[in-house]
Amino acid sequence: MMPSLAQCTAALMTGEEPLFATMGTIRQSGVSRMRNLAIHPSETEWRRLFMGGTPPATGQRMAAHLKLCAECWDLVCRLPRPVYYALGRPVPSVIPMSPLEIEAEVRNLVSHCLERLPGGGTVVVAAEWPCEALMLHVLSLSATRLRRLGRTAEIAETVFRRDEAPPRPSSEVAILLEAPYYPSLHDWTILPPGRVSILAGPLERWPTSDVDVRFAPRKPSEAVPRLEPYRQAITDALRGGGASVAAGIVANALGCDLPPGYLPPGTQGPFVPVTDLHGNPLGWSSVEGQWLAWQVVNEFARESSGEVAHLLVRAVEKFRSLGQSQHGPARRLARSAIQSGLISRLPEGMEGVEGS
Ligand SMILES: [Zn+2]
Repeated sequence: MMPSLAQCTAALMTGEEPLFATMGTIRQSGVSRMRNLAIHPSETEWRRLFMGGTPPATGQRMAAHLKLCAECWDLVCRLPRPVYYALGRPVPSVIPMSPLEIEAEVRNLVSHCLERLPGGGTVVVAAEWPCEALMLHVLSLSATRLRRLGRTAEIAETVFRRDEAPPRPSSEVAILLEAPYYPSLHDWTILPPGRVSILAGPLERWPTSDVDVRFAPRKPSEAVPRLEPYRQAITDALRGGGASVAAGIVANALGCDLPPGYLPPGTQGPFVPVTDLHGNPLGWSSVEGQWLAWQVVNEFARESSGEVAHLLVRAVEKFRSLGQSQHGPARRLARSAIQSGLISRLPEGMEGVEGS
């Protein structure tokens, strides 16, 4: 797991004399300390350090520099929080389980898959909404573990744009994220011996009786306070970020990513890139954590369902204006809005979306 900026800076400060005491001694410091301060790392170099992309020796030198240099400390404090990615999805970096508990979940899922492989079949996994990052993290580790055990394991697309399920990869184990959004999972569920599909999604979207494996810490509510900064950013943008930003958040909340060109250049909003499994941005964007966005939008809809319906129409119009290839997201959005109970029928302006 990638540490947060706060964790990085906390780690830099622990076990040493307090930072401000250290800074107070700079004036009396010796030659080596002065040499350490001579060259300030650039903003890009600091960003790279917190993203884990700096060689250890350089990282140690930079950490030592940070303890002595008030100028760099100011710069680091102003850097935006790094985005946490799991399987290419930007999600809040809140994983409410210890590494030992996570290991137990990985073992459990891997052995479940191995048991099912000879006969072939599906494994349905789910998590409660505060545990989106946890579920993706366990799936990611499980895929790696299966590969280490000599099995082939692949994850289907990480951009949520299709209204029909993507083709199932030919691997022994294949993982489909947000599986409950698709109307038919045909080639994911009719499987020969030696093939297992892992179908993953939020617990509230599955009939509970269908779920084989459920990832949830003993008290998922403990994760909620840690999600608060992310919730606040989405809430502020939904209520005060302008109509295209708000419509984008509603689309995200309903399991739709925003295509290239959706957001006008320079838009201020809580959107970050969706990436492939190697971390390369794909041009599509999303808020950090669509399960969280769903909670925020759902709450907003209880106050003002008319406003949410209006934002839905706006999002669909925007998808349509981007051309034929974006009809998939428009249909996905409409179906998801009805399935989730956010609206009971298509509002004016959205008719024909399902069949278009
Ligand atoms: Zn400096």
